[in-house]
Amino acid sequence: MKPVETSCNLCGQNSFKVREDDDPPFRVLECLNCRLVFVHPFPDIATLAVHYDADYYRDWICQQKNKRIRMWEGRLNKLEKRRQGEHLLDVGCGDGAFLKLAQERGWEISGTEHSSFAANYVSEALGIPVFCGEIFDAGYPENSFDVVTMWHVLEHLTDPKRYLREIHRILKPSGLLVIAVPNVNDYIMQAAYRLGKRRPLKLFSKDDREIHLYHFSDKTLRNYLRNTGFECLKIAPDYGITEYSKKMVNSIAVVLYYMSGLRIFNALEVYATRI
Ligand SMILES: [Zn+2]
Repeated sequence: MKPVETSCNLCGQNSFKVREDDDPPFRVLECLNCRLVFVHPFPDIATLAVHYDADYYRDWICQQKNKRIRMWEGRLNKLEKRRQGEHLLDVGCGDGAFLKLAQERGWEISGTEHSSFAANYVSEALGIPVFCGEIFDAGYPENSFDVVTMWHVLEHLTDPKRYLREIHRILKPSGLLVIAVPNVNDYIMQAAYRLGKRRPLKLFSKDDREIHLYHFSDKTLRNYLRNTGFECLKIAPDYGITEYSKKMVNSIAVVLYYMSGLRIFNALEVYATRI
């Protein structure tokens, strides 16, 4: 392929192969050095912003409310096996349901959110103060938080490394970072999709409801954490809300993981501590 005018966000190298090339001018590239997968060029910020307006959140706040509460309870239960009731920052807090639940369980809470619709909703409807914008502009002092969470946020960011460095700065020493992202190596789901739809599962389409700029594996996530000053404690399956058929397919991958250690399930949940 002709040279690409960018460098890898994870390792800084600039040799890539094309993973997908059917939605010009966008392509999905894979770094030949560290295997990070990402969209290039990024859709512009205005295009990204329209994806996170009232329509994006309506289902979550209305139809899916009860299911989502159970999802947040599951995630918080796991987190509370390691830490309890300290100062927690949720980066990209969305509709604020996770923060509300954490607050009810005695956590001191803070949130950031890129979408002004969601930030206003959380501030006004739930009474939780949320910083609207990028985490670097929030002005949090260093060593501010015991726990930082990012639930399916990292894949939407244009510069994940810069975010992780800022989180390292504002976390207390030995503070806990919890990240959930889709898994680019969800091979069982990819095979099921190919069988059912007779075409491969795409990583990017400019018309997707959610634009994922980056696609992580357990290996690239580990490298990100190592490069930004974290020790990875655990990478396990993350369970979001999805259709019954997808849940069934994923459960095969989860069983395989518990039998073999192979991380080919749908989403990764990562626990790391600040060194
Ligand atoms: Zn790389």
